[in-house]
Parts: sequence; structure tokens; C-alpha cells
Amino acid sequence: MKKFSATTPIYYVNAKPHLGHAYTTIISDAVCRWHKLCGEEVHLLTGTDEHGLKIQQFADAEGVSPKQFCDKIAPLFADAWQRLNIDVSDFIRTTEERHKVGVQKLLQACYDAGDIEVDTYRGHYCVACEAYYTPEELDNGKCKIHNTKAEYVEEENYFFRLSRYEEKLLKWYADHPDAIKPDHRVNEVTGFIKQGLRDFSVSRKTLTWGIELPWDKSHVAYVWFDALANYITAHGYGTDEKQFAANWPVDYHFIGKDIIRFHSVYWPAMLM
Ligand SMILES: [Zn+2]
Repeated sequence: MKKFSATTPIYYVNAKPHLGHAYTTIISDAVCRWHKLCGEEVHLLTGTDEHGLKIQQFADAEGVSPKQFCDKIAPLFADAWQRLNIDVSDFIRTTEERHKVGVQKLLQACYDAGDIEVDTYRGHYCVACEAYYTPEELDNGKCKIHNTKAEYVEEENYFFRLSRYEEKLLKWYADHPDAIKPDHRVNEVTGFIKQGLRDFSVSRKTLTWGIELPWDKSHVAYVWFDALANYITAHGYGTDEKQFAANWPVDYHFIGKDIIRFHSVYWPAMLM
């Protein structure tokens, strides 16, 4: 039987589900239902993104542990998809053991390949985005998405050497011109890569709410590295290699435009 497999973004549990989450998830479900009507075996993966500084801060504000905070919010997403009659095949939470094992395997693989190295980060960070920005990417020191001030931070981090992947990524997009839809987004991504890629931090030393780096337990994984890996950990990477080989890659990643850089630059480089 022909297979069709798709993913939604995993949603950050800092707040209850809203219309934006529902929009992406309903579209994903509609496309999956079309493939089902065509007689295909369909898999739709969704879930929740539960680590990172922002979750720690929300939990602190409520006076509960981050795990307690996530345990309260994550079921609201599962419940929302049930009420909207979304046909979910798998719901992954990044606090699950299967995910932790897979993330650590991916981190170790990148480290062993020489693509993760220790360095010092100095610059601005938007906690709401959980992302670093250069001064040029900010508007008067404020994040353009959140209109809030990005904090100056300086700390020892492990870095993923994304800068080594410029040529490989450009070649890959040249060979796969249909990889991103709509078409103008391909230009956005390749334009961004051509400007030159900066290495990105994959660890935090000042945070404990996350997945420990397997070779240095004083650091936890950067939440985006952790979150993106859900697409493979849910399919058995690190825990069930047979299942993984049978089900990876998936056909579609449904995403929103604000997270295109993470999915179209970071993620393929991490997979490479
Ligand atoms: Zn932001």
C-alpha cells in the first residue's frame, strides 16, 4: 500500500492552543484525509515542544516545576485535536524518554562528525523566539516578531558549525527545486543561505530544563535542536532503527512562515 506521512510543527506549551495552532493542524489533517481517500496508508504526527527558557520562566511565574507546568498544558493540545476531529496518528511530547534518547543520539552523531564545537557566545537573544539575533536583525534592539527587547547574553556554548553547510544546502535546493512550497519561499531560503550562514549555539549552560548533552552534562540542548529532532525521534530514531528505516523520511512538514529558517536551513543541515 502506498504511504503518506506528514508532520505539524510541535507546539510550544507556554500557552493554551489558539487559532494559529488549529489552522496549521486542520490543513495538515485535510491533506492527510485526501491521501486516505486515495487509499493510502497515512500517518500524521503532531505534539508539543516542552523545553527551553521560556517554559522555565512561565513555570517559575506560576510557582510550579517546568514538568508540572507542561503536564498541565500538553493535554489541552491533545484534547483540542480530538474536539476538532483531527485524525492524529502519533502525539509526541519532547519530555518523553523516546525523544530524549533520540536527541542525545543525534547530538552525539553531530559531535562525533566534528560539527559541534565549544565556543563563547556574545550577542542578543529573544526569549519568546528562543533565538539569537544580530543587531541588524533587530529593530532598535527589539525582536521584529515580538516587539520586545532582546537580552544581551554572554556564555560558553557548544556551536553547530552551520557555516560549513552553505554549499551543500544550496546544491541540495538546486537539485530539489520543489522542496519548499510556495515557490517564493525557496528564494527566501536560498537568499538567506547565500548571505552566509552563522554557526548556531546548540547548548545552554545557565538552563537546566532541557536534554543534557551526552558528552557534557553541564549543558542542556538548545530547544530548537531538541524540538526539530521530534520528526525523527517519533519515528524511532535512537529507539527503534527498524521502524525508523521504514518510516523516514516523511513526505511533508507543514510549518508556518515564521519558522521557515529553522526548518529549511538548520534542520536539513542537522540531518546531513
Ligand atoms: Zn522574538
